Amino acid sequence: MSRISILFTLLFTFILSAQNETYQLENKNVLIVYGGWSDHHPEFFATKIASWLEKQKANVTLSQSTKIYLDKTVMNQVDLIIQHITMTEIEEIESKALQTAIKKGVGLAGCHGGLGDSFRNDTEYQYMVGGQFVKHPGGQVDYTVEISSPKHKITEGINDFSLYSEQYYMHIDPAIEILATTRFSGAHDSWIEGIEIPVVWTKSYGKGRVFYSSLGHSDDIFEIPEAWKMMLRGISWAVRK
Ligand SMILES: [Zn+2]
Repeated sequence: MSRISILFTLLFTFILSAQNETYQLENKNVLIVYGGWSDHHPEFFATKIASWLEKQKANVTLSQSTKIYLDKTVMNQVDLIIQHITMTEIEEIESKALQTAIKKGVGLAGCHGGLGDSFRNDTEYQYMVGGQFVKHPGGQVDYTVEISSPKHKITEGINDFSLYSEQYYMHIDPAIEILATTRFSGAHDSWIEGIEIPVVWTKSYGKGRVFYSSLGHSDDIFEIPEAWKMMLRGISWAVRK
């Protein structure tokens, strides 16, 4: 094969793979609820995701309050909720309304502390998400994300990758489907050497699909193609079908 035909084959393959990335979010109603601990830049995350969703022709509603979970007009029409609220608290009635919506088939997606460390005293919420952050030993460290389910739609074609960020140690629900994991070196807490913890997972909660990724401590994490791609595919996977 000549160099030019190799080049064309590569280009064609690239175009095909780019075209194959369809997200099926057109006309879907997506609610993004953000807030909580400001060091996680909830507004940055919310607006970045909202602008991408608008390009997919989804109808996006942004809210800075969990009170929106009590708004029946919004909740009766929503297909997917993306939440980015680290720590803080939620009213029990709001949490129940969120849980009811997901149980009925609304999707739920999010990342890092925005979904996996939201309301520490709300165990039913944690039961829904499938995991709860407990520590990132050593703060920001170099670590590797290993794809454990390479045939899943969310991880297809994505290779293992390394990053410098918070390596989330999480208490997890055995009911989750694990798509990617990370292994702890034990450099900071020797007794967890070699322990493998899920990074990306999916799960069911009633009829709802839940997607979570622990990647997203800082804005630059979303510049890592593998992390960003899994986030977008996870959003697309979770939306009510
Ligand atoms: Zn963080």
